Amino acid sequence: MPHSLSGMTTRRRRTSRAVGTLAVVLGDQLDPAYLHVLGLDPGRDVVAMMEVPSASTDPPSHVQRSVLFLSAMRHHADALRQAGWRVAYRSLVSDDGLRDFQQTLGGLIADLEPREVACIEPGSHGVRAQIERACAASDTTLRVAPDPHFLCTTDAFADWATGRRELILEYFYRQQRRTLGLLLTEDGKPVGGSWNYDKDNRKRFRDPPDPPPVARFDPDAVTRQVIADVRRVLPDLPGRVDRFSWPVTRAQALTALDDFIENRLALFGDYQDAMWAGHHTLYHALLSASLNLKLLDPREVCAAAIAAYDAGRAPLNAVEGFVRQIIGWREFVRGVYWHAGEGYARLNELDQHGALPEFYWSGNTDMNCMRHALDSVLDLAYGHHIARLMVTGNFALIAGVHPSRVNDWYLGMYADAVEWVTTPNTVGMAMHADGGVVGTKPYAASGKYIQRMSNYCAACRYDVRKRTGDDACPFNTLYWDFLIRNEARFRDNRRMAMSLRNTARLGSAERVEISISARATRDRFGVGPVGAGA
Ligand code: FAD
Ligand code: SF4
Repeated sequence: MPHSLSGMTTRRRRTSRAVGTLAVVLGDQLDPAYLHVLGLDPGRDVVAMMEVPSASTDPPSHVQRSVLFLSAMRHHADALRQAGWRVAYRSLVSDDGLRDFQQTLGGLIADLEPREVACIEPGSHGVRAQIERACAASDTTLRVAPDPHFLCTTDAFADWATGRRELILEYFYRQQRRTLGLLLTEDGKPVGGSWNYDKDNRKRFRDPPDPPPVARFDPDAVTRQVIADVRRVLPDLPGRVDRFSWPVTRAQALTALDDFIENRLALFGDYQDAMWAGHHTLYHALLSASLNLKLLDPREVCAAAIAAYDAGRAPLNAVEGFVRQIIGWREFVRGVYWHAGEGYARLNELDQHGALPEFYWSGNTDMNCMRHALDSVLDLAYGHHIARLMVTGNFALIAGVHPSRVNDWYLGMYADAVEWVTTPNTVGMAMHADGGVVGTKPYAASGKYIQRMSNYCAACRYDVRKRTGDDACPFNTLYWDFLIRNEARFRDNRRMAMSLRNTARLGSAERVEISISARATRDRFGVGPVGAGA
């Protein structure tokens, strides 16, 4: 079946090379400026956009994540057509049996016989390899341009990282601040005298919070059609779609940015780490999906936050904290992803091999903190950073789940998931499976941390004061077992010294009791043994 090419019909095997460049625009590359970066000419070149089932099934994607990507792609394709571009658009409902980027691009190349294929560097090793293979199979030249969206090129990150014993975010972040000239005084010092105000950003709620409602973007006709298509073609995707409200166009993304800056930024810093039952978004930005799809540019996002500070509408601890997430963490994890290479996703430094419990997909668990974190994921395809790191991530880490299984879950279940950002955050930060590249110590914590930062424990069936026994908080049992299991491994890690001193105080009877209780907990939740062969 020929692919639909707006404004004209194509037949297989055209004899003259009417198409100059076939420009691949992926679902997370929706900045129209990319076409100019590639030096394209609307009179000669064609844009290829592909809705492929494998992007939603391998690993299984939350239905909202799929709908977001596909709806934003269809809106983008319409806007490009209106601007005079020819777009070869392969829809999910094309009944052509093509399942992945390699097959679909191969079909487009065969139809259009372009002189070359061009793209901005994709956000995953796997997609890049598929594009390369499709071009190689048809003997077509491939031109890949660096992604101008990011503030630190992959080469600049490699220069910074090479020769360093440890990659410390704080040093990378300070260099970024200096290079980009953000939040600096005239003599190059950090505004306010300090590079980092995190000490002010760990408040918890004493009373129920009352954050302003988040701007909603109800599904328009395009999104409603995508929902119908996804339901028909991919009926088994996890998650719930009825509360879909993600920005799917640049105009909506700009409204979401304004909404955050005006209504939530001022308290973003204070309550960055806090959690509260029934409040999934609190004072967070909800901008990662728009940034990752390239509907927003990190420069404009930082500029908007800094303008709010300059105008006295947001305090420095909030604005510096937010800017650090964008120019620091976001760029840092991308640098690690490309610098560490393809093998990074398969690292398993802690040698953990347990299964991912079924409740990650259903939310059906009697741990109150996990149930709230998973409800947020299933209802919204969202979780804020601490819910991702210290609840769902922490549980998987201390229970001994295999990091690849955890990574697949995070890659599928969040609207903002793209491999370059999900994998270092999951394999590195949450699972410590990279041996300390992203985080110098594992983010392992007992129930005490969750009790301090939320109101979950008061309404939980487990007792957060207990370490072992049927009603003991599973986070406590698994945390102490994790420390016992890894005592030798962390002996030289200075940042683990205090935890290891506490572990060393455990008597042998207590150790046995914790290990037995942890094994029972893992069995009850379907994790099974931690060791290889599981
Ligand atoms: P806010 O908390 O309001 O933060 C503001 C912005 O800073 C975010 O929009 C995001 O662009 C950026 N940011 C903050 N922390 C990070 C970080 N560690 N890495 C990259 N960017 C960051 N982020 C994703 O964009 N996609 C992912 O797939 C993803 N997977 C994660 C998996 C795990 C296990 C963990 C611990 C974190 C993950 N993060 C991911 C990082 C972070 O949790 C999300 O960026 C953030 O929660 C998005 O919500 P928000 O826009 O409300 O962010
Ligand atoms: Fe979570 Fe434990 Fe608190 Fe229950 S008691 S909410 S399982 S930390």
